[in-house]
Amino acid sequence: MPIFMCHACGCIENTALSNYWVHTTLEGKPGLCSACDPEIGKWHGEFPQRSAAGMLVDQSGHLWSSQESVPKHYQIMGSASQPHVSKGEEGNG
Ligand SMILES: [Zn+2]
Repeated sequence: MPIFMCHACGCIENTALSNYWVHTTLEGKPGLCSACDPEIGKWHGEFPQRSAAGMLVDQSGHLWSSQESVPKHYQIMGSASQPHVSKGEEGNG
């Protein structure tokens, strides 16, 4: 099962344990983890919530732990980094 980085908090999330496919394919929105998803609102507890920083990201936005584990038809585009969270800044946009 693919994993991805939550757009809001930058943690690792599994596509099957969140509304990832609904958000990204049906609604065209960035993927959110179960804790950041307003429809779920809490971490699922299937594995510890941790940052995706440093993991490799392929062309679909899915995460890989090392170059050796990446199948040939995936292309690594870069590595994950924490999203820019600006606290105390009003979002008017
Ligand atoms: Zn999140």
